[in-house]
Amino acid sequence: MTDISTELNKFMRGLRKRNPYETEFQQAVEEVVQSVLPITLDHREYRDAGILERMTEPDRIIIFRVTWEDDEGNFRANRAWRVQFNHAIGPYKGGLRFHPSVDQSILKFLGFEQTFKNSLTGLPMGGAKGGSNFNPKGRSDNEVMRFCHSLMSEMHRHIGEQVDIPAGDIGVGDREISYLFGQYMRLENRWAGVLTGKGCAFGGSAVRTEATGYGAVYFCEEMLNEAGEKLKGKRLAISGSGNVALYAAQKAMQEGARVVTLSDSDGTAFITDGLTEDQWEFVRELKEERRGRIAEFAEKFDAVEFKEGEKPWGVECDIAMPCATQNELELEHARELHKNGAIAVCEGANMPTTPEASAFFRDGKVLFAPGKAVNAGGVAVSGLERSQNAMNLSWSREKVDEKLCGIMKEIHGKCVEEGRTDGGEIDYVNGANIAGFKKVADALLGYGAV
Ligand code: NDP
Repeated sequence: MTDISTELNKFMRGLRKRNPYETEFQQAVEEVVQSVLPITLDHREYRDAGILERMTEPDRIIIFRVTWEDDEGNFRANRAWRVQFNHAIGPYKGGLRFHPSVDQSILKFLGFEQTFKNSLTGLPMGGAKGGSNFNPKGRSDNEVMRFCHSLMSEMHRHIGEQVDIPAGDIGVGDREISYLFGQYMRLENRWAGVLTGKGCAFGGSAVRTEATGYGAVYFCEEMLNEAGEKLKGKRLAISGSGNVALYAAQKAMQEGARVVTLSDSDGTAFITDGLTEDQWEFVRELKEERRGRIAEFAEKFDAVEFKEGEKPWGVECDIAMPCATQNELELEHARELHKNGAIAVCEGANMPTTPEASAFFRDGKVLFAPGKAVNAGGVAVSGLERSQNAMNLSWSREKVDEKLCGIMKEIHGKCVEEGRTDGGEIDYVNGANIAGFKKVADALLGYGAV
């Protein structure tokens, strides 16, 4: 009988050596390998075919310079990447992130996670991620436009509707996707569904803007129902106030939950009585249209208190939904949430929980669902946008929302099926990793040595 922890250590030693300093990538791989190693040890064909080694090595990484001109006439240069991680089950698909913290490790972790997430949706999509260390904050629309046009001038040769279909992520929303798409059409002289998250006027899908947040709440409801609980009446602590956070908050409110926090990188707004519809609309306009700070939300409403530099996790709540960025919820926060009575954590962001905090939750203390399952609704509706583009059709809001809800239920079902422990509990991390892994692994097995 092979000792799993010895094998895991051996595998991770090699991976760390091949990918030095890439700590986020190492973290993401270790979590998945922990879940799937028992399967690969049980199945000789996976081992003989080097499936784990192949799935942890990106197909390719494209690195390029993006030169652009600021409003003062200075030339600036940023670095950009497209990590095409794995296209065993479909064309590469995954977002673009613009944030000063972006580096190769972060994009490799995101591309790796995306491969499993896309597999979980049941749609034919491979995994990729890209972006740049460009900081859009404080930049004018014209500066962002020049940056996006310059980035696409290089990226257009590496993407295509059957090759690689990027979308948005942190710092890349409607405005950036429109600039990128416009430049793609100018360069290629044809309309193609080569990006998702497009405006509905030019090939975008209904509900794509809302999809990640809505999907996260649909998943959360399934998880609570499975545990004999319900979302209605629960207090929800949400971090972030961007795309995922905003629409998770909206759907949670529609389902009768009370949203008690929103945040940004400056601090947290505490809303003791729960977010109202008017307040939600204020934050949406503040963030989506004026690109303002969450502190302004607290200045406007007496019942909202802003605490600079604080995270939401000290608040009394039933459910935590981290929707900002990686590693934002640490062990001390996990302990505090548990002490304050939280029963569930649903990751809206990608890998927002540190390994120590995640181990604490998974130790049976708090229901815990990983981002690759919870936030898969975004890419699922991107997949539906791709289908609509291919058919030259545009589905109604109701139809897309119904499909999204169905997909999230199916993902939840797969997590339950693969994640049930001998004791009858559900380990959602193992469930998501194993279900996502099997499909990609079997495709790779069939292809032989590619
Ligand atoms: P947005 O750019 O719309 O919003 C990000 C939010 O998180 C902002 O409130 C931002 O605050 C905050 N944030 C970002 N970085 C940090 C940081 N280092 N520290 C503290 N706060 C931070 O991004 P999205 O909502 O699109 O993405 C959020 C998360 O969800 C990411 O992990 C992303 O990968 C994941 N995701 C997104 C999907 C989508 O469809 N958009 C799909 C699946 C996953 P500030 O403005 O101050 O920076």
